[in-house]
Amino acid sequence: MAIMSTHPKDFERVRDLSHDLKLHQPDDLKIVPCFGVHPWWVSELTQEDWQEDSARDALPRWLVEVEDMLVTYPHSIVGEIGLDGFHFDRATGGLKAPMAKQVEVFRLQMELAAKHQRPVSIHTVQCFGVLMDTLSIIKKSTVKLPPKMYFHAFGGKQGTIDQLLALCGREPGKVYFGFAPVINFRSPKTADVVRKVGLDRLVLESDHEDAQFVPKSIEDCVDFLASSLDVGEEEVIQQTTRNAFSFYGLD
Ligand SMILES: [Zn+2]
Repeated sequence: MAIMSTHPKDFERVRDLSHDLKLHQPDDLKIVPCFGVHPWWVSELTQEDWQEDSARDALPRWLVEVEDMLVTYPHSIVGEIGLDGFHFDRATGGLKAPMAKQVEVFRLQMELAAKHQRPVSIHTVQCFGVLMDTLSIIKKSTVKLPPKMYFHAFGGKQGTIDQLLALCGREPGKVYFGFAPVINFRSPKTADVVRKVGLDRLVLESDHEDAQFVPKSIEDCVDFLASSLDVGEEEVIQQTTRNAFSFYGLD
């Protein structure tokens, strides 16, 4: 189970929850704490968060907090980070965080993930063009892209999958996709997109904030993937488990 954070304010909660679950659950439950700033919370970064840390290559403080977590927890990954072109501020009618700011925060975290060779869980809503542009810039830079990328609650089209694989790498174990019942299952195009992705690149997810909804969501994911791909539920469970182990670097 991967537990995503959204802002430095919840890093300690994610860390403590991961720790408690490990203590009180059977040994075969693997917990992956994830640290990052989500696009919805970019606007919550304060001036103080943006102050440069002179002792740490002038990185902004919030990024130093992400890096400290990654270094302290070697099995943690970067997430949930990304870009959102549909999260508006009701008062102004504009995006809650300007896209240029979201790109800056996303890019800094992608570069950090590449530096520490960690996988990344990526959120993208209605801005796949900006995502492609940003990924190409990072790919051409000296740091390069992170080793593994997971596009969660994927709302792109079939053609977007080809573009992402061309950009991020087609080799097995590099790029994964997930679909969440709360986000994706009402769209009639999702089953076609699932078939285009294929079982080898799929990971189960709930995308719920409340843990009580997680088991049912995961069961719904298995049902949906099995019927979309016309394979048995057991095969979906086995393969998505192997995929998750590969993506999160578990053994
Ligand atoms: Zn998301």
